Amino acid sequence: MNTSTHTLNAGKNRMRVLVIGGGFAGGMAAVRLAGRSRGRADITVVNPRPTLVHRLRMHQVAAGQTIAAPDLRTILGPRVSLLQGYATGLDPQAGQVTVATDDGERRVGFDRVVLATGSVTEPAPGPGGDHVHAVGDLGSARRLRAAFASLHPGAQVAVVGGGFTGLETVTELAAARPDVRVRLITSGEVGGWFTPAGAEHVRNRLRRLGVETVGEARARAVEPGRVLLDDGAEVPADLTVWCGGFTAPPLARQAGLAVDEHGAALTDAALQSVSHPHVMAVGDAGHAPGPRDQRHSMCCPFAFSSGAHAADLLGQEALGRRSGEPAPFDMGYLGRCVALGPGDAVLQLTTREDVATGTPWTGRATAGYKEFVLKGIGRTVWTARYAPGLVRWPRGARTSRSDAAARTVAA
Ligand SMILES: Cc1cc2nc3c(=O)[nH]c(=O)nc-3n(C[C@H](O)[C@H](O)[C@H](O)COP(=O)(O)OP(=O)(O)OC[C@H]3O[C@@H](n4cnc5c(N)ncnc54)[C@H](O)[C@@H]3O)c2cc1C
Repeated sequence: MNTSTHTLNAGKNRMRVLVIGGGFAGGMAAVRLAGRSRGRADITVVNPRPTLVHRLRMHQVAAGQTIAAPDLRTILGPRVSLLQGYATGLDPQAGQVTVATDDGERRVGFDRVVLATGSVTEPAPGPGGDHVHAVGDLGSARRLRAAFASLHPGAQVAVVGGGFTGLETVTELAAARPDVRVRLITSGEVGGWFTPAGAEHVRNRLRRLGVETVGEARARAVEPGRVLLDDGAEVPADLTVWCGGFTAPPLARQAGLAVDEHGAALTDAALQSVSHPHVMAVGDAGHAPGPRDQRHSMCCPFAFSSGAHAADLLGQEALGRRSGEPAPFDMGYLGRCVALGPGDAVLQLTTREDVATGTPWTGRATAGYKEFVLKGIGRTVWTARYAPGLVRWPRGARTSRSDAAARTVAA
């Protein structure tokens, strides 16, 4: 295991913290740290764009909608610097990041680094090409938007992947273009993650939108004009949207950090890299031990709360108040709200361990709730600027159970 080569004289010097990635996790980490460290940390966020990319709306971008792009500097506030550029190299030992900017390459030193580079859609199997699209990032969503808009009436579209992103994408596209034929290809049961009532609502919604589902079918390759399935069948497609899964950008792997098979940095329970403990990884970029012996899901609740946890640990360090083992990150789940095109959504409650449970909420009111949440998401980071402690999250099942046991014993 590598250990940090640069020690920090916290309490005397200002700690230089570099946050790579200005999405939900990185934004939260930077802004909350600014509040927690009381001027004892110099915080810089590196991000390629000057605006916050609202990834949860990328399927809406693809379907042709105009989405607000809030100014990142305004969100980060005056106590956080924004360096517009793309981190092309990370040297954790030397405490240095190489950043490609419009004005050329820059090297930036740091005492602590927070990796918050998010994720992108994994490549589709097959030769690739103009007919394969994705919604995992803004560039891909914009390319899909242009290709989708140029389809002739009667054209065939295949969305591969029946997870949350696949469902949000297929319903949004089908609702936007009733004149094209949209199919959903999924290796599992359609809506299989939800409770039976939730799954039935998903299936009914797909039927009403005219989406043909090809369930329990694994896509083997995407070729021009068709998707080839494992069982030898093929699905015709003028345009294919691959929603098969997400993978991390290459930076962590290239930096020599320990990563999982998707390139996400493996972290311990405190969100520190298992190979380089002075590197913290948050949001989609980090593979943190989660419920049911799996990694925490790539989702906004994890992005915000992991970013906040990193800020709290780094804040203690900047103030010279850290002693002993860092506190573990502890988060439980409450529910998932999945949009199903304009005017419909499913709000499925979950156990703390992220298992669907109870009666789902559906329909127009739920879609309104989802829209309300989406509109407020950027403001969550902004709020942390003024009241960092206001951003809180539910604790995990094990903690809740031991709390309950402790209360019972006490009673
Ligand atoms: C279509 C779609 C719908 C979704 N819907 C939901 C939903 O309903 N609910 C939910 O909870 N989650 C949803 N998600 C998942 C959610 O968007 C992610 O989990 C969340 O955005 C993760 O936040 P993040 O900050 O880790 O990453 P991101 O939001 O991806 O931010 C990462 C940032 O890092 C930047 N970056 C990357 N590499 C570098 C580099 N080398 N140098 C500098 N900057 C870099 C990126 O440009 C980006 O700005 C959805 C995702 C998609 C794609």
